[in-house]
Amino acid sequence: APELTTISIVYNDENMPINYVFIIKDISLTKQNEQMINQLSFYDPLTCLPNRKMISEKVARLIKEAQRASEEVNVGGHYTPLIRHALLFIDLDHFKNINDSKGYSVGDKLLQEVALRLVDAVRKTDIVSRFGGDEFIILLEGVDVSLDPGRALYRAKKVSSFLNEVLSRTFEIGDDYFYISTSIGITEIDDSTVEVFDAFKHAELAMYEAKSSGRNRYCFYSPQMQEKIMQRVNLEASMRDALLKEEFVLHYQPQFDHGGRMRGAEALIRWMHPEQGVISPAHFIPLAEESKLIIPIGEWVVREACQTLALWQQEASLQYVKISVNVSALQFSQDDFVDLVQVILEETGARGNLLQFELTESMLINDKTNILKKMHALKKLGVLLSLDDFGTGYSSLSYLQQLPFDQLKIDQSFVKNLSGHGDHHPLALTITTMGHSLGLEVIAEGIENFDHLVMLKRFGCDLFQGYFMGYPMACKEIEKIVHDQQS
Ligand code: C2E
Ligand code: MG
Ligand code: MG
Repeated sequence: APELTTISIVYNDENMPINYVFIIKDISLTKQNEQMINQLSFYDPLTCLPNRKMISEKVARLIKEAQRASEEVNVGGHYTPLIRHALLFIDLDHFKNINDSKGYSVGDKLLQEVALRLVDAVRKTDIVSRFGGDEFIILLEGVDVSLDPGRALYRAKKVSSFLNEVLSRTFEIGDDYFYISTSIGITEIDDSTVEVFDAFKHAELAMYEAKSSGRNRYCFYSPQMQEKIMQRVNLEASMRDALLKEEFVLHYQPQFDHGGRMRGAEALIRWMHPEQGVISPAHFIPLAEESKLIIPIGEWVVREACQTLALWQQEASLQYVKISVNVSALQFSQDDFVDLVQVILEETGARGNLLQFELTESMLINDKTNILKKMHALKKLGVLLSLDDFGTGYSSLSYLQQLPFDQLKIDQSFVKNLSGHGDHHPLALTITTMGHSLGLEVIAEGIENFDHLVMLKRFGCDLFQGYFMGYPMACKEIEKIVHDQQS
């Protein structure tokens, strides 16, 4: 047992030592307590992995070593090993969905399973740590890179692609099966790493890059990422003023029926940036969602589209033309979304049954009861509902069948794949048939040539939208199309 020995000296009146007293104490309990405190502050209680604090201290030490080693290499003429460590930043994609839909206890079990798989997949000498939430950091064992500078990153690449694979295998928790994917960012700790914060930040940036280039993949950190982030920060700052400065406009892309009559138009937002010119929504909508600016922007879009509808209602040739508005997940999830729509309809005088909202599958996964309630409340206002980008999501058909949609929009990718010959089972045909059997109107978007149009007509699609018939255009131009059709 560990012992603590105290030695005291006993002095006589002349201040001379006459005796020694040894006190020997068994301190195993204290030691145990110490260990426990250590455990608590350096390990994550859920997964028993080293925590953020522990990995941070380890990385701090490695950075110091790397800096010292580079100085030695510069001084010494002979061969010195140059040890480099790679850092992996691992984030589970869409983990929040599982937590939200299945509850925290399932989420916790999943995290524990993930931790086990991570530890299993790497060497004993690599350190797997839980960084927080659904984020893990793995510090790979150092390798000597003095002869091959790419060695550490090469191993990181192999490990990452293995981890992507290992974590995409089925997880079984209770009676449920789960599938997840992971995004991994890779960086190297070298003498240019100044601080622990940099190392983690770089790996995290790379992880975000992996996410935005499609998830379930890994990505290496590059200094250009830093610049990209700065551009985003600037864009976000100028987006804050864009509403006030009235830099947004709506363009409308026409939608035609079999007979070539314009039946509707999709409102597509454009940002007229004073310096950068026209910025596409594909570029700024994701950023607006992240910064929550999509809420005031989305409200503006609905109001603007309703104002256009109200004007069109006054004209004989335009009074039956519908306008479809894209709604983002965050916007739809606001508690007051339906109330807001009602207020805007009243305020502008637009008829609800000419307004159609385009929703995407991904926004329909969570909180089923609430979504159903909202959709039915919108239907009460007369508003039509369209399922955009159909075929790209993962929701089950039996679930979709329960939702009160009016229209199904075949995703562009199925239209692009259509070639005049060869393909005997085009998915666009299957989707059209399926949509009709669910009682939905079916529209195809992304029609770029005559062949596409002819085939989709043959498949029985109801409405057609695409560059071949018309680009998104200013309000005035679309009004002109209809007037020309009339005359
Ligand atoms: P989306 O809703 O799927 O819109 C269709 C996109 O395809 C539009 O891109 C449109 O210009 C483009 N497109 C139309 N015809 C063709 C074609 O024949 N070929 C090809 N290759 N593309 C075609 P856009 O305007 O850049 O919008 C991109 C996305 O941004 C939209 O995808 C939508 O998700 C989002 N978005 C646009 N406006 C809004 C908005 O007001 N609010 C929200 N939340 N999202 C919006
Ligand atoms: Mg759309
Ligand atoms: Mg679409």
